[in-house]
Amino acid sequence: MKTSQLDLRELLAFKPHGGTMSFLGQRAYLTDMVSHGMLRKELLKTIGEKATRTIITRSGFIRGWLLAEQIKRKMPEVWSEARQGKLGPMICSMFGFGEVLTSQRTDGLSDAPLVETYFIGSYEADQELRLNGQSTDVACWEQVGFASGYVSNVQQRTVYFIEPECQAKGDCHCRLVGNYIDQWGDEALPLLQYYNGINNDNIKSEVQDILKIEEYFPRDSNINLSAKNNFSHSSYPISNSHPMQKLIEMAINVAKVPTSILVTGESGVGKEKLVDFIHRHSDRNNKPLLAINCGALTESLLDSELFGHVKGAFTGAENNKMGLIESANGGTLFLDEVGELSPSMQTKLLRVIQEKQIRRVGDNNIKDVDVRIISATNKDLEAAVEAGDFRQDLYYRLNVIELKIPPLRNRGEDILPLARCFLSDFNEKLGRKITGFNYKTADLLLNYDWPGNIRQLANTIERAVVLSPGPQIMPEDLPEEFHQNITKPSINNGIKPLNTIEKDYIVSVLETLNNNKALTAKKLGMSLATLYRKLKEYDELQNFD
Ligand SMILES: [Zn+2]
Repeated sequence: MKTSQLDLRELLAFKPHGGTMSFLGQRAYLTDMVSHGMLRKELLKTIGEKATRTIITRSGFIRGWLLAEQIKRKMPEVWSEARQGKLGPMICSMFGFGEVLTSQRTDGLSDAPLVETYFIGSYEADQELRLNGQSTDVACWEQVGFASGYVSNVQQRTVYFIEPECQAKGDCHCRLVGNYIDQWGDEALPLLQYYNGINNDNIKSEVQDILKIEEYFPRDSNINLSAKNNFSHSSYPISNSHPMQKLIEMAINVAKVPTSILVTGESGVGKEKLVDFIHRHSDRNNKPLLAINCGALTESLLDSELFGHVKGAFTGAENNKMGLIESANGGTLFLDEVGELSPSMQTKLLRVIQEKQIRRVGDNNIKDVDVRIISATNKDLEAAVEAGDFRQDLYYRLNVIELKIPPLRNRGEDILPLARCFLSDFNEKLGRKITGFNYKTADLLLNYDWPGNIRQLANTIERAVVLSPGPQIMPEDLPEEFHQNITKPSINNGIKPLNTIEKDYIVSVLETLNNNKALTAKKLGMSLATLYRKLKEYDELQNFD
């Protein structure tokens, strides 16, 4: 998972019926700004400014340090981006600290500070202004401490922040500047006194034992949570990933012209959704979009469905019937599985495209039609042309523009947004209130290969919504293939010849991947031909046909 894919709702978990909540597996609780501010005021009154500021700065340090440690342990992939400075601003906004305007990092060894962050709407500055009015000093004590603890953990070296400008004293933003402890000059010493010696090393030993106690929420079958989900179906097609963004851009451009389009891609990638998208973005969108699956009907039925017929044209033709091509006049006709068309249907379709005219079955009259044809296939049509199974002239007519939808495994950034979209749909459809995916579940979804593409993702989420006791979808709510780790071969049961190990391994990978040979070959780093050869050699081919 990447930082940009983080979703606060998936890091937070709530126990049904209330009582406890957790953030990244650690118990957490909500507080509000006013009562938090009152606590600060009480402390100031009781123990004075220096002690209060020290306590708040140090507790901020511990909080920031612990959070970094949790992310490091729980979400190593996100953690790898922390050093680039991407995660900190995101965390600040998730915690409601304020809005980070800019945050810059250097190597910390030159004159420029290691980190310099500008932000507005700091909760501490806001608190101060509300409770005491404009202050003469800076107010963001917990936040400088938090930033120091967090960055110290990231850098594995103590970093202290100070706040030269703050909205609480009338500046237009808060500015936080962080440096390695030994890079600060003497002039910063009065400000660093509030850290009172807390640093990267002593905090480590102090919290080690605490971190061993990990809270995990018990599952509960009674769900009593209201889930709010902002993802809507209208956001389809989801295109956070670069290949999808390019495809959608192209689809919008070609939607405007009446050219024929061939949509290709593996089974389950969502071809019909893209066709719908193109139709909606074309100037034919006030006319019908009609679809037919060319592989699902016999030739004579398809003929009558597409072209219509007149009464008495054949046995059973009791009335005149308008075909889909005529019905779609002015609009779009979607021919799914176009590679399945018989040779004679190919010829008829070619005539429609070339002459823009149709004749109903059994009719002598010819009618003019204006239909935009979008076809789709998961077959290699070019190969079908070469093999003589598909007319070359029709192929060129249909394939003026090819839009190839990438498989889901090549558009990783779309997996979670799509999954959240399906979750919202199935919650509504099945009357469930699942709040989101546990972060470990999210990782499993991201690391899976999705041989069945979006259709498989939708099925997986539907199944999980049905089975999960809630409130979140946990790893165990996903099907077996998400968990299958092929175990390390051991010599406990005697030493085996290498080819037996190889055979067993290939067979278990094939089983894990639902007999998807192309994927198995890819995962094992061999060609498909080699995989077949080996299966034949091991006499296993018939078991995986
Ligand atoms: Zn401030």
